[in-house]
Amino acid sequence: MSAAYNAKFTNTAIATRAIHAGQEPDPTTGAVVTPIYATSTFKQDGVLGLRGGHDYSRSINPTRTSFDEQLAAVEGAKYALSFSSGLAAIDVLLRSTIRPGDNILLGNDVYGGTYRLLSKVFVPWGIGLDVVDITDTAAVEAALTAKQYRYVWVETPSNPLLNITDIAATAKVAHAHGTKVVVDNTFASPALQHPLDDGADVVVYSTTKYIGGHSDVVGGAVVLNDDETREQVAFLQNAAGAVPSPFDSWLDIRGLKTLDLRVRQHSANALAVAQWLESQPSDVIERVWYPGLESHPGHDIAARQMHGGFGGIVSVQLAGGAEAAKRFVDRTEIFTLAESLGGVESLIEVPAAMTHASVSGTTLQVPANLVRISVGIENIDDLIADLQQALRAL
Ligand SMILES: *Cc1c(COP(=O)(O)O)cnc(C)c1O
Repeated sequence: MSAAYNAKFTNTAIATRAIHAGQEPDPTTGAVVTPIYATSTFKQDGVLGLRGGHDYSRSINPTRTSFDEQLAAVEGAKYALSFSSGLAAIDVLLRSTIRPGDNILLGNDVYGGTYRLLSKVFVPWGIGLDVVDITDTAAVEAALTAKQYRYVWVETPSNPLLNITDIAATAKVAHAHGTKVVVDNTFASPALQHPLDDGADVVVYSTTKYIGGHSDVVGGAVVLNDDETREQVAFLQNAAGAVPSPFDSWLDIRGLKTLDLRVRQHSANALAVAQWLESQPSDVIERVWYPGLESHPGHDIAARQMHGGFGGIVSVQLAGGAEAAKRFVDRTEIFTLAESLGGVESLIEVPAAMTHASVSGTTLQVPANLVRISVGIENIDDLIADLQQALRAL
């Protein structure tokens, strides 16, 4: 892809960049859509006479490059590097930039798989891991004063409690202590939140969620501006090889094109679901967690930090406890009982038993009566009618 082509979209809005950046029509045929370059290798014109730097598809593939350029443009960042999963992206970012003896400060509500990777893989390799209430900037500052950390790891909104962390305030205290800030921006997506603009050093994504958007691909990405970190991440990506296939990249490209449109509808539907759940009697619904609700402790920060919506995830605690939670998710008909989130279809699950079973018994344990809902983009009246019949059956 040519830099000159991408430069044309620098000053356009996200919806425009998402459709055009990295998507230059094919120079030989004019194909408007980036082809799936299903090739492992590339012909060399004489030894090392590479066409556009292409030698081998672990190192470089045009479909992947197209997605990387598209995502970087949507984020307003210099670089995006895509991976075969969100956890592969997190793994390579960390392994390429930290060493045994380094410490990571982690929020107390994060994706269970991130905690599992850090606590079960990185800690035995000599990385120090401490957990803090990441929404409490004073607590973060106290931790940073007591010990040197390489990274503060922020998820906002967090998974599954939708806690909101002030990225700019966290970056300010972290940088004052020589610590970098990583934001897992999977829940907000680049349609709603721009951590690099707020001072974060690196953004990571599970593109499996809103960016892919159709529950048909597993992928991840590291997005950043710093040249040295980019070199380190790219080196290990090629050396270790957790790259997406050309077909994965093609699905991510197709998903990202409609991100802005989808996330606006996800957000509108999720707000309506959250408001409806909050209006239910307290002997049915104990508590609703959604940053778009004024009752949410992080509402004001979210309103400032997120642009155009609060995302598609709503968590709810049922007054009837863990058993009521399990019955509820079993009785919905449009909301499918499944792990994952961020696809066009509504999903529902019990984190304590499913996505977050790996944090059970740790400081990250989530309430047993919690139900996490990934609100899709179906008709909102149908969605609420489905929740209503499922609650009535409890
Ligand atoms: C799903 C998820 C991940 C992990 O991504 P995979 O693509 O499943 O490897 C990381 N962070 C968050 C917030 C997630 O929701």
